Amino acid sequence: MKVLVAVKRVVDYNVKVRVKADGSGVDTAGVKMSMNPFDEIAVEEAVRLKEAGAASEIVAFSAGVAACQETLRTALAIGADRGVLVSTEVELQPLAVAKLLQAVVDKEQPRLVILGKQAIDDDCNQTAQMLAALLGWGQATFASKVEIDGDKARVTREVDGGLETLELALPLVVSTDLRLNEPRYVTLPNIMKAKKKTLDTLSPADLGVDVSPRLKTLKVAEPPRRGAGVKVPDVATLVAKLKNEAKVI
Ligand code: AMP
Repeated sequence: MKVLVAVKRVVDYNVKVRVKADGSGVDTAGVKMSMNPFDEIAVEEAVRLKEAGAASEIVAFSAGVAACQETLRTALAIGADRGVLVSTEVELQPLAVAKLLQAVVDKEQPRLVILGKQAIDDDCNQTAQMLAALLGWGQATFASKVEIDGDKARVTREVDGGLETLELALPLVVSTDLRLNEPRYVTLPNIMKAKKKTLDTLSPADLGVDVSPRLKTLKVAEPPRRGAGVKVPDVATLVAKLKNEAKVI
């Protein structure tokens, strides 16, 4: 079973993001970039499936600027076999990424595609769902457990107030939640090995996909600053303040 994994290059989760002075977006100049954390979980899951004998080959996919190669190399160091970069300077929106993935699925014919549940930069939580719809495949989003049994998958999903377990037919799109696994540390020997693995670069035009944005960002703004807190002497004062001032109880 071939597995395709989508990995996005995003601002590192430890970085405090700054909004550009003109409010047109987030400033990424000189900022540390890393693989989207949910995508690390996706790669880890694919590697575990391969180690368990359920997957035969793992292809990592990334779309964006040329530096996304670094993200793909990290995926290769975790254990993916090959990388596919769709190189473009256009700022990609989820529908464009889903269409690029659809075209790569047509070429590569994987039985399973694993994505993160959301990219921590745009928080869209759309790409996996759009991809499943474009392909006409089943989807299991927010997965916290994935088991493959022949032509079927059993996926446990984190839903409000509990867990839901689904049985789905392959081919399938899965999106990862935080508790699916804990990604391994990338070791130096594996980073060296990853340098030798194949990484193909395509353009959106090679795949026949129009990636022009459909949505226009009007404004990006910092969240309003929080006012300073006050110390209260006892619980009775706190309750009175919550009741009479904040009016939340
Ligand atoms: P989103 O719908 O933007 O929140 O992204 C959900 C998931 O789609 C991410 O966790 C990635 O697995 C995948 N994805 C989104 N954008 C890209 C991209 N430019 N390159 C590769 N994968 C992506």
